[in-house]
Amino acid sequence: MSAGQDWELGAFGGIATFARLPHRPDPAGADVAVVGVPYDSATTFRSGARFGPRGIRAASQVLRPYNSAMDVQPFELLEVVDVGDVPVAPAYVEETQERITTVVGRLLDAVGVVVTLGGDHSVSLPLLRAQRRKRGPVALIHLDAHPDTWSDEFGLRYGHGTPFWHAAREGLVDTGASIQIGMRGPTEGPDDLRRSRELGYHMVTGEEFWELGVAGTLARVHQVVRGPAYLSLDIDVADPAYAPGTGTPEVGGLTSRQLLTLVRGLAGLDLVGMDVVEVAPPFDHGEITCLLAANLVYEFLSLLAKGRPVGR
Ligand code: MN
Ligand code: MN
Repeated sequence: MSAGQDWELGAFGGIATFARLPHRPDPAGADVAVVGVPYDSATTFRSGARFGPRGIRAASQVLRPYNSAMDVQPFELLEVVDVGDVPVAPAYVEETQERITTVVGRLLDAVGVVVTLGGDHSVSLPLLRAQRRKRGPVALIHLDAHPDTWSDEFGLRYGHGTPFWHAAREGLVDTGASIQIGMRGPTEGPDDLRRSRELGYHMVTGEEFWELGVAGTLARVHQVVRGPAYLSLDIDVADPAYAPGTGTPEVGGLTSRQLLTLVRGLAGLDLVGMDVVEVAPPFDHGEITCLLAANLVYEFLSLLAKGRPVGR
Protein backbone atom coordinates (compact mmCIF):
# COMPACT_ATOMS: atom_id res chain seq x y z
CA MET A 1 0.00 0.00 0.00
CA SER A 2 1.27 3.47 -0.86
CA ALA A 3 1.49 5.49 2.34
CA GLY A 4 1.08 9.22 2.45
CA GLN A 5 -1.26 10.07 -0.41
CA ASP A 6 -3.51 12.88 0.75
CA TRP A 7 -6.79 12.40 -1.09
CA GLU A 8 -8.57 14.84 1.22
CA LEU A 9 -6.67 17.81 -0.15
CA GLY A 10 -8.21 19.13 -3.38
CA ALA A 11 -6.49 18.33 -6.68
CA PHE A 12 -5.37 21.96 -6.76
CA GLY A 13 -3.26 21.82 -3.60
CA GLY A 14 -0.09 20.21 -2.35
CA ILE A 15 3.22 19.31 -3.97
CA ALA A 16 2.80 17.73 -7.39
CA THR A 17 4.38 14.29 -7.20
CA PHE A 18 2.90 11.68 -9.54
CA ALA A 19 -0.61 10.87 -8.28
CA ARG A 20 0.32 12.54 -4.93
CA LEU A 21 2.58 9.62 -4.13
CA PRO A 22 5.25 10.09 -1.49
CA HIS A 23 8.51 11.51 -2.86
CA ARG A 24 11.11 8.95 -1.85
CA PRO A 25 14.48 9.18 -3.62
CA ASP A 26 15.35 5.78 -2.13
CA PRO A 27 12.48 3.44 -3.03
CA ALA A 28 13.80 0.41 -1.12
CA GLY A 29 10.92 -1.85 -0.13
CA ALA A 30 8.41 -0.36 -2.57
CA ASP A 31 6.88 -2.33 -5.44
CA VAL A 32 7.02 0.35 -8.12
CA ALA A 33 9.15 3.48 -8.62
CA VAL A 34 7.98 6.34 -10.84
CA VAL A 35 10.93 8.35 -12.20
CA GLY A 36 11.13 11.36 -14.51
CA VAL A 37 13.70 11.87 -17.27
CA PRO A 38 13.46 15.56 -18.24
CA TYR A 39 15.53 15.26 -21.42
CA ASP A 40 14.75 16.43 -24.96
CA SER A 41 18.09 17.20 -26.60
CA ALA A 42 17.66 14.27 -28.99
CA THR A 43 14.51 15.66 -30.61
CA THR A 44 14.71 16.55 -34.29
CA PHE A 45 11.70 18.84 -34.74
CA ARG A 46 10.11 20.75 -31.89
CA SER A 47 11.58 20.24 -28.44
CA GLY A 48 9.84 20.59 -25.09
CA ALA A 49 9.63 17.03 -23.76
CA ARG A 50 12.07 17.99 -21.00
CA PHE A 51 9.00 19.51 -19.38
CA GLY A 52 7.10 16.22 -19.77
CA PRO A 53 7.68 14.83 -16.26
CA ARG A 54 6.47 18.06 -14.66
CA GLY A 55 3.49 18.32 -16.98
CA ILE A 56 2.43 14.72 -16.39
CA ARG A 57 2.86 15.04 -12.63
CA ALA A 58 0.76 18.23 -12.60
CA ALA A 59 -2.01 16.60 -14.64
CA SER A 60 -1.87 13.45 -12.46
CA GLN A 61 -3.24 15.38 -9.48
CA VAL A 62 -6.76 14.59 -10.67
CA LEU A 63 -6.21 10.82 -10.49
CA ARG A 64 -8.18 9.13 -7.73
CA PRO A 65 -7.66 5.94 -5.72
CA TYR A 66 -10.23 3.70 -7.42
CA ASN A 67 -10.02 2.63 -11.06
CA SER A 68 -13.67 1.94 -11.79
CA ALA A 69 -13.12 0.47 -15.26
CA MET A 70 -10.75 -2.16 -13.89
CA ASP A 71 -12.31 -2.45 -10.42
CA VAL A 72 -9.00 -2.05 -8.65
CA GLN A 73 -7.35 0.32 -6.17
CA PRO A 74 -3.79 0.28 -7.48
CA PHE A 75 -2.24 2.21 -4.61
CA GLU A 76 -3.88 -0.05 -2.00
CA LEU A 77 -2.41 -3.17 -3.56
CA LEU A 78 0.99 -1.80 -4.55
CA GLU A 79 3.42 0.48 -2.82
CA VAL A 80 4.28 3.04 -5.48
CA VAL A 81 6.67 5.94 -4.86
CA ASP A 82 7.84 8.93 -6.90
CA VAL A 83 11.64 9.01 -6.78
CA GLY A 84 12.03 12.32 -8.64
CA ASP A 85 14.08 12.85 -11.79
CA VAL A 86 17.27 11.44 -13.30
CA PRO A 87 19.98 14.17 -13.32
CA VAL A 88 20.31 14.57 -17.09
CA ALA A 89 22.93 16.58 -18.99
CA PRO A 90 21.21 18.71 -21.64
CA ALA A 91 22.79 18.39 -25.11
CA TYR A 92 24.92 15.40 -24.06
CA VAL A 93 22.99 12.39 -25.32
CA GLU A 94 25.50 9.68 -24.50
CA GLU A 95 26.39 11.04 -21.06
CA THR A 96 22.68 11.27 -20.27
CA GLN A 97 22.12 7.72 -21.48
CA GLU A 98 24.81 6.48 -19.10
CA ARG A 99 23.24 8.34 -16.21
CA ILE A 100 19.82 6.91 -17.01
CA THR A 101 21.14 3.33 -17.15
CA THR A 102 23.00 3.80 -13.87
CA VAL A 103 20.17 5.46 -11.95
CA VAL A 104 17.41 3.21 -13.27
CA GLY A 105 19.62 0.15 -12.84
CA ARG A 106 19.88 1.05 -9.17
CA LEU A 107 16.13 1.53 -8.95
CA LEU A 108 15.59 -1.88 -10.53
CA ASP A 109 17.76 -3.41 -7.80
CA ALA A 110 15.39 -1.93 -5.22
CA VAL A 111 11.89 -2.38 -6.70
CA GLY A 112 10.01 -4.71 -9.01
CA VAL A 113 8.98 -2.25 -11.69
CA VAL A 114 10.13 1.21 -12.79
CA VAL A 115 7.74 3.49 -14.68
CA THR A 116 9.43 6.38 -16.50
CA LEU A 117 7.98 9.75 -17.45
CA GLY A 118 9.92 11.15 -20.45
CA GLY A 119 11.61 12.89 -22.02
CA ASP A 120 12.07 12.27 -25.73
CA HIS A 121 12.24 8.72 -27.07
CA SER A 122 16.03 8.53 -26.90
CA VAL A 123 15.61 7.74 -23.19
CA SER A 124 14.13 4.31 -23.94
CA LEU A 125 17.44 2.85 -25.12
CA PRO A 126 19.25 3.31 -21.77
CA LEU A 127 16.08 2.18 -19.97
CA LEU A 128 16.16 -1.06 -21.96
CA ARG A 129 19.87 -1.45 -21.22
CA ALA A 130 19.02 -1.30 -17.51
CA GLN A 131 16.21 -3.84 -18.03
CA ARG A 132 18.51 -6.27 -19.80
CA ARG A 133 21.01 -6.16 -16.95
CA LYS A 134 18.26 -7.22 -14.59
CA ARG A 135 16.26 -9.66 -16.69
CA GLY A 136 17.91 -10.30 -20.03
CA PRO A 137 16.16 -9.35 -23.28
CA VAL A 138 12.54 -8.24 -22.97
CA ALA A 139 9.60 -8.34 -25.35
CA LEU A 140 8.81 -4.80 -26.48
CA ILE A 141 5.32 -3.42 -26.95
CA HIS A 142 5.93 -0.13 -28.74
CA LEU A 143 3.09 2.31 -29.37
CA ASP A 144 4.15 5.19 -31.60
CA ALA A 145 3.39 6.98 -34.87
CA HIS A 146 7.01 6.27 -35.81
CA PRO A 147 9.04 3.05 -35.82
CA ASP A 148 12.17 4.75 -34.35
CA THR A 149 14.41 2.20 -36.06
CA TRP A 150 16.66 4.56 -37.98
CA SER A 151 20.29 3.46 -37.65
CA ASP A 152 21.43 7.06 -37.19
CA GLU A 153 20.22 10.65 -37.27
CA PHE A 154 22.14 13.40 -39.01
CA GLY A 155 24.97 10.91 -39.40
CA LEU A 156 25.20 10.38 -35.64
CA ARG A 157 24.46 7.31 -33.63
CA TYR A 158 21.76 8.38 -31.21
CA GLY A 159 18.57 10.41 -31.64
CA HIS A 160 14.94 10.02 -30.67
CA GLY A 161 14.37 8.16 -33.96
CA THR A 162 16.97 5.44 -33.29
CA PRO A 163 16.28 3.68 -29.96
CA PHE A 164 14.75 0.48 -31.33
CA TRP A 165 17.45 -0.02 -33.97
CA HIS A 166 20.07 -0.04 -31.23
CA ALA A 167 17.87 -2.02 -28.84
CA ALA A 168 17.61 -4.78 -31.45
CA ARG A 169 21.29 -4.68 -32.39
CA GLU A 170 22.41 -4.68 -28.75
CA GLY A 171 20.19 -7.67 -27.96
CA LEU A 172 18.14 -5.72 -25.43
CA VAL A 173 14.84 -6.84 -26.93
CA ASP A 174 13.62 -10.14 -28.33
CA THR A 175 12.34 -8.67 -31.60
CA GLY A 176 10.51 -11.85 -32.58
CA ALA A 177 8.41 -11.48 -29.42
CA SER A 178 7.99 -7.70 -29.89
CA ILE A 179 5.42 -5.59 -31.66
CA GLN A 180 5.25 -2.00 -32.89
CA ILE A 181 1.80 -0.42 -33.21
CA GLY A 182 0.49 2.75 -34.85
CA MET A 183 3.12 3.71 -37.42
CA ARG A 184 1.77 6.18 -39.96
CA GLY A 185 2.32 9.41 -41.84
CA PRO A 186 4.81 10.53 -44.44
CA THR A 187 8.27 8.96 -44.11
CA GLU A 188 11.65 9.20 -45.84
CA GLY A 189 10.69 6.18 -47.96
CA PRO A 190 9.57 2.55 -47.81
CA ASP A 191 12.78 1.61 -46.01
CA ASP A 192 11.57 3.12 -42.73
CA LEU A 193 9.02 0.39 -42.07
CA ARG A 194 11.01 -2.30 -43.88
CA ARG A 195 13.96 -1.73 -41.52
CA SER A 196 11.77 -2.57 -38.51
CA ARG A 197 10.62 -5.80 -40.12
CA GLU A 198 14.18 -6.72 -41.09
CA LEU A 199 15.18 -6.35 -37.45
CA GLY A 200 12.46 -8.89 -36.67
CA TYR A 201 9.82 -6.68 -35.05
CA HIS A 202 6.18 -7.48 -35.66
CA MET A 203 4.10 -4.46 -36.64
CA VAL A 204 0.54 -3.20 -36.79
CA THR A 205 0.72 0.03 -38.77
CA GLY A 206 -1.71 2.87 -38.23
CA GLU A 207 -3.56 1.83 -41.39
CA GLU A 208 -3.73 -1.81 -40.24
CA PHE A 209 -5.01 -0.63 -36.87
CA TRP A 210 -8.09 0.86 -38.59
CA GLU A 211 -8.83 -2.54 -40.09
CA LEU A 212 -8.08 -4.62 -36.99
CA GLY A 213 -9.44 -2.27 -34.33
CA VAL A 214 -8.41 -2.50 -30.70
CA ALA A 215 -9.57 -6.10 -30.23
CA GLY A 216 -7.84 -7.38 -33.37
CA THR A 217 -4.66 -5.53 -32.48
CA LEU A 218 -4.69 -6.96 -28.96
CA ALA A 219 -5.12 -10.44 -30.41
CA ARG A 220 -1.92 -9.86 -32.41
CA VAL A 221 -0.15 -8.62 -29.27
CA HIS A 222 -1.10 -11.71 -27.31
CA GLN A 223 -0.02 -13.96 -30.20
CA VAL A 224 3.40 -12.37 -30.45
CA VAL A 225 4.51 -11.24 -26.97
CA ARG A 226 6.19 -13.81 -24.74
CA GLY A 227 8.20 -13.53 -21.54
CA PRO A 228 8.94 -10.30 -19.65
CA ALA A 229 7.24 -7.45 -21.54
CA TYR A 230 8.14 -3.75 -21.59
CA LEU A 231 5.70 -1.08 -22.78
CA SER A 232 7.16 1.98 -24.51
CA LEU A 233 4.44 4.48 -25.21
CA ASP A 234 5.21 7.49 -27.42
CA ILE A 235 2.26 9.81 -26.89
CA ASP A 236 2.29 10.72 -30.61
CA VAL A 237 0.62 7.37 -31.26
CA ALA A 238 -2.50 9.32 -30.27
CA ASP A 239 -4.09 11.64 -32.78
CA PRO A 240 -2.98 15.28 -32.40
CA ALA A 241 -6.62 16.05 -31.62
CA TYR A 242 -6.08 14.11 -28.37
CA ALA A 243 -2.37 14.74 -27.87
CA PRO A 244 -1.21 17.99 -29.48
CA GLY A 245 1.54 18.45 -26.91
CA THR A 246 4.25 16.45 -28.64
CA GLY A 247 7.29 17.07 -30.79
CA THR A 248 6.47 15.20 -34.01
CA PRO A 249 2.68 15.01 -34.40
CA GLU A 250 1.11 12.82 -37.11
CA VAL A 251 -2.54 13.07 -38.07
CA GLY A 252 -4.83 10.03 -38.18
CA GLY A 253 -3.88 8.51 -34.84
CA LEU A 254 -5.60 6.67 -32.02
CA THR A 255 -8.20 8.20 -29.74
CA SER A 256 -7.74 8.47 -25.98
CA ARG A 257 -10.38 5.79 -25.54
CA GLN A 258 -8.65 3.38 -27.90
CA LEU A 259 -5.38 3.86 -26.05
CA LEU A 260 -6.94 3.24 -22.64
CA THR A 261 -8.54 0.06 -23.97
CA LEU A 262 -5.30 -1.08 -25.59
CA VAL A 263 -3.35 -0.66 -22.36
CA ARG A 264 -6.03 -2.43 -20.29
CA GLY A 265 -5.95 -5.24 -22.83
CA LEU A 266 -2.34 -6.04 -21.90
CA ALA A 267 -3.68 -7.89 -18.84
CA GLY A 268 -2.16 -11.34 -18.53
CA LEU A 269 1.27 -10.35 -19.85
CA ASP A 270 4.33 -10.35 -17.59
CA LEU A 271 4.73 -6.56 -17.55
CA VAL A 272 8.12 -5.48 -16.20
CA GLY A 273 8.32 -1.79 -17.12
CA MET A 274 6.83 1.16 -18.92
CA ASP A 275 7.81 4.53 -20.27
CA VAL A 276 5.61 7.30 -21.62
CA VAL A 277 7.62 9.67 -23.78
CA GLU A 278 7.46 12.67 -26.12
CA VAL A 279 4.99 14.63 -23.99
CA ALA A 280 5.87 18.26 -24.74
CA PRO A 281 3.80 20.60 -22.55
CA PRO A 282 4.80 23.81 -24.42
CA PHE A 283 2.69 22.55 -27.36
CA ASP A 284 -0.15 21.20 -25.23
CA HIS A 285 -3.62 22.76 -25.09
CA GLY A 286 -5.73 22.62 -21.95
CA GLU A 287 -3.27 20.01 -20.57
CA ILE A 288 -5.05 17.29 -22.55
CA THR A 289 -1.82 15.54 -23.61
CA CYS A 290 -0.43 15.53 -20.07
CA LEU A 291 -3.76 14.30 -18.74
CA LEU A 292 -3.83 11.43 -21.24
CA ALA A 293 -0.26 10.46 -20.37
CA ALA A 294 -1.04 10.53 -16.63
CA ASN A 295 -4.09 8.33 -17.15
CA LEU A 296 -2.20 5.82 -19.28
CA VAL A 297 0.36 5.43 -16.49
CA TYR A 298 -2.51 4.97 -14.03
CA GLU A 299 -3.99 2.22 -16.21
CA PHE A 300 -0.60 0.52 -16.34
CA LEU A 301 -0.25 0.69 -12.55
CA SER A 302 -3.76 -0.73 -12.26
CA LEU A 303 -2.75 -3.65 -14.49
CA LEU A 304 0.27 -4.31 -12.31
CA ALA A 305 -1.90 -4.20 -9.19
CA LYS A 306 -4.31 -6.74 -10.70
CA GLY A 307 -1.46 -9.00 -11.72
CA ARG A 308 0.39 -9.06 -8.40
CA PRO A 309 2.98 -10.00 -7.34
CA VAL A 310 5.02 -7.62 -9.52
CA GLY A 311 8.12 -9.15 -11.07
CA ARG A 312 11.22 -8.93 -8.91
MN1 MN B 1 9.04 7.58 -30.70
MN1 MN C 1 6.77 9.20 -32.41
